[in-house]
Amino acid sequence: MADPKGFLTTPRQEWPRRPVEERVHDWAEVYVPGALLPIIEAQADRCMDCGVPFCHEACPLGNLIPEWNELVSRDDWRAASDRLHATNNFPEFTGRLCPAPCEAGCVLAINQPAVTIKNVEVAIADRAWQDGLAPPRPPDRLSGATVAVVGSGPAGLAAAQQLTRAGHTVAVFERDDRPGGLMRYGIPSFKMEKRHLDRRLAQLREEGVRFRTSTEVGRDIGAAELRARYDAVVLAVGATAWRELEVPGRELTGIVQAMEYLPLANRVCEGDIDASPLSAAGKHVVIVGGGDTGADCLGTAVREGAASVTQLDIYGQPGSERDELAEPWPTYPKIYRLSAAHEEAGELRTAPAADADARLFAASTLRFEG
Ligand code: SF4
Repeated sequence: MADPKGFLTTPRQEWPRRPVEERVHDWAEVYVPGALLPIIEAQADRCMDCGVPFCHEACPLGNLIPEWNELVSRDDWRAASDRLHATNNFPEFTGRLCPAPCEAGCVLAINQPAVTIKNVEVAIADRAWQDGLAPPRPPDRLSGATVAVVGSGPAGLAAAQQLTRAGHTVAVFERDDRPGGLMRYGIPSFKMEKRHLDRRLAQLREEGVRFRTSTEVGRDIGAAELRARYDAVVLAVGATAWRELEVPGRELTGIVQAMEYLPLANRVCEGDIDASPLSAAGKHVVIVGGGDTGADCLGTAVREGAASVTQLDIYGQPGSERDELAEPWPTYPKIYRLSAAHEEAGELRTAPAADADARLFAASTLRFEG
């Protein structure tokens, strides 16, 4: 750390979001463009470079967080990018989309706001692209082995990139017309614009990955043929395999799964269709489920011009502070979080509850009535 007292002198500051009134009229990312890099070195300097960095343990990828915090605070973006990409193929995705268990585990979070680890991550990734620090890295020589990767979501793409860089010849099979999986047709653009995905796909192609889109394994090509044609097969599928809500009335019209609703809105953004057949425009919408996917539906419905939106969360409303007995540090706590979508729904007063946001807590769905 460049300043050993940074955590004492610098308050936590997050990447600011654009005004709600502005952003609900477009599908661009909710953050103020260009507002992160000017603040991020001081934020990285809040890191205490802990002897036992719990952030590193809490990160599912094992990201080398204290290392790249230090490198950012010292303005060494090249080394920071190298250390970040050592454990993470796509930090510009995770820096925008991950719920950041690293920050819940940050030692600073014991008695102060955590280091803005997720913001540092996305800043390194964006700066790496801006400065040409993430070039294609094709292998020096080919192994002669071939691999089929089934599914082009983040897991499939990461597997394809690692295998290609190791020298194997990789083909990625995707049933949709474009690669990207959940990142393409599930995640709304206001959380991550598709240009980030397209840029990585171009990098993968230059490294040698081949994409077979509009090809469904099991329909267009059989498992036996895949096994015969390739030395190995990686299965990286399943994000759209939704969980059914088996209650009376589920079969009524107007009840759709998130992964039926969100892809159509994304296709409008891609320019494939003019309007979504499932658009929420002018409708009163109820979202069953209080998680991130529900929030994605909420932000989408608000942008489509829903008359009202209510989100049902099966859990009771959590407090604003960690429950130290039930969920002690460094576990990921259930605390009241106001996502960008909740902010939008609340400020626009589209929620019948006219609450701080659109959620009704402790609400379990027992049946649907026509
Ligand atoms: S736990 Fe927090 S303060 Fe400690 S090294 Fe990780 S980010 Fe820095």
